[in-house]
Amino acid sequence: MQFTERARDALAELQRAAAPVLALLAPQRCGACGTEGTLLCSACCDELGLAGAGRVERGAAPPGCVAGAWIGPYEGGLGEMVRTLKFHDLPALAAPLGLALQGAIGAVQRELGGDATLVPIPTDPARLRDRGFDHAALIAAAAARALRCDLAALLERTRAVPALHTLGRAERRRVMDRVFAIRTGATMPQRVILVDDIWTSGATFEAAAATLRAAGCKAIGVVAVAREALMNGA
Ligand SMILES: [Zn+2]
Repeated sequence: MQFTERARDALAELQRAAAPVLALLAPQRCGACGTEGTLLCSACCDELGLAGAGRVERGAAPPGCVAGAWIGPYEGGLGEMVRTLKFHDLPALAAPLGLALQGAIGAVQRELGGDATLVPIPTDPARLRDRGFDHAALIAAAAARALRCDLAALLERTRAVPALHTLGRAERRRVMDRVFAIRTGATMPQRVILVDDIWTSGATFEAAAATLRAAGCKAIGVVAVAREALMNGA
């Protein structure tokens, strides 16, 4: 029994180690439509609002936040790109998504009244171990490089949470209560823009913003690659 488990672990380790090599050997495909040849085809780049500084969609900010923006809807190609990035081991897709967040970040920054530090929403540690990379951190890093703005991993998760989209509003709030903490030794900037891949109910942003405010942050905005329509009531 123990031997089988060890063998399984060893195999999983081998697969993880081989993944980058296999990715190089496999033909590159568009992360949104699957067309062979490139990581993001020009048709998807235009259609999904990923060209240049990216499309900017605006809406009411989550509670405790000043402003929010995103590139486009989760339903469709953007959602497909986010899923390909996270579940098919393609961290390289974070770069075009981060670049396309520049417009949204700029719009939120203007409402915050000045330069803001980008703070990625941290991935659950267990998922991070499985995946080997933190997608929101990579997206935020690509955006920060392009915009030459500050980037700081100020937040950490205190525990794992279930998938939020299956929960009602009150339940989401309860589950997210104090789920984030400030990393030890972090200095708090005045203005922060939280960065995540998907914005669904806003409960994750709301919880992260509450943690930052309690630690002295004055103005918080949020940006996400994709906004997902909520099925069970906002
Ligand atoms: Zn495409």
